[in-house]
Amino acid sequence: MNVQNIMTNLEAKHPGENEFLQAVREVLESIEEVYNQHPEFEKAKIVERMVEPDRVFTFRVAWVDDNGEVQTNIGYRVQFNGAIGPYKGGLRFHKAVNLSMLKFLGFEQTFKNALTTLPMGGGKGGSDFDPVGKSDAEIMRFCQAFMWELWQNIGPDTDVPAGDVGVGGREIGYMYGMYKKLAREYNTGVLTGKGSTWGGSILRPEATGFGALYFTEHLLHKAGKDIKGLTIALSGFGNVAWGAATKATELGAKVVAISGPDGVCEIPGGITKEMIDYMLEMRASNRNKVEDMATKFPAATKFTAGKKAWSVKCDIALPCAFQNELNEADAKELIANGTWCCCEVSNMGCTPEAIHTFQSNGILFAPGKAVNAGGVATSGLEMTQNAAHISWSAKEVDDKLHFIMESIHEACVKYGTQPDGKIDYVKGANIAGFMKVAQAMLEQGVC
Ligand code: GLU
Repeated sequence: MNVQNIMTNLEAKHPGENEFLQAVREVLESIEEVYNQHPEFEKAKIVERMVEPDRVFTFRVAWVDDNGEVQTNIGYRVQFNGAIGPYKGGLRFHKAVNLSMLKFLGFEQTFKNALTTLPMGGGKGGSDFDPVGKSDAEIMRFCQAFMWELWQNIGPDTDVPAGDVGVGGREIGYMYGMYKKLAREYNTGVLTGKGSTWGGSILRPEATGFGALYFTEHLLHKAGKDIKGLTIALSGFGNVAWGAATKATELGAKVVAISGPDGVCEIPGGITKEMIDYMLEMRASNRNKVEDMATKFPAATKFTAGKKAWSVKCDIALPCAFQNELNEADAKELIANGTWCCCEVSNMGCTPEAIHTFQSNGILFAPGKAVNAGGVATSGLEMTQNAAHISWSAKEVDDKLHFIMESIHEACVKYGTQPDGKIDYVKGANIAGFMKVAQAMLEQGVC
């Protein structure tokens, strides 16, 4: 494989799909050496096939807002790669959603899902619908209209959507309600992230954040460190950031900053249980303002408009919000302030330049597809429970999640250990995920 040739072809075929091209380049550059040791991959054109989604659905979503006005959005589902199992991945509702973003996320999801050790292919979907400022009734009508179009293309053994940015338990509930009406069956395995009284797995809401902290613990142990007493800055206050803040605090670390699109909220004494609970209210309000935290807890916090969490002094940075949310300048600022570890919790949260800056300065860095895989892994556990019509206790799910995150860390170490003994977690995650999908594609022939 010649990465440059493949990228030139891909750029010509998909001009302007910048996030997608960025994600592909990152993976190809890190697998190139291993790939070229396998002539059978080259002969079967594995990479050329792997960078094209199996199929993509786009559809119109028309709905009526609270003022009685008709609104039109675009809906998508990208079924990226089904080599190792049914398509699996979240739905993102955000005003910036477009095909490039969902192709990048579906591509990343393919490798992430392979890392979980569970049989799940990669998929992603969503809409350019903007939940900010929408009423609960508007969210419900949009979710129903979205599912009206999508339902025939999904199923427990076909494609299993879940949440992502802008889609949490409430949205999954509204979508499932419409699904069961249209399909005329109570088929819980069609979506994950459901409520725990109707087929959802206990701990699924917390799983991405919890898993990220379990992975971080393993990474720190491997480096001879302990998480207790360390300071953490994180971005976002959605589901993922909430789970990460909860587990970090439980493990004895101190979350000293959270941020939002409007600025950063510093919490010098560390985030408290009350503040963590309040994050849930902030997300449900659809206001998307971190300043609300400072307004609610004025004595313990300080809000600065226009600043990111990466301007705050901390040991560990945890980007938990959106792709490319931590750039080269942010990485330099963090390093100058003494940060020595960054675990990417958001999908592709760091720009390639930021990753390069971390790695060339000896900062411990791990990529999203390994760090945040606990979310989709627990979705996989939810699928198993649904298929068997059983439900596991919190301890059973947590033990399995622990085990999966440990396995992912081990896979990164296995494939990412360099001749000098250092671990390149980016390479490790990409190669481990790639090898599994490539082998399955090879064995299944040209299709
Ligand atoms: N959206 C999450 C992710 O990026 C979860 C996907 C799922 O649970 O299917 O992995």
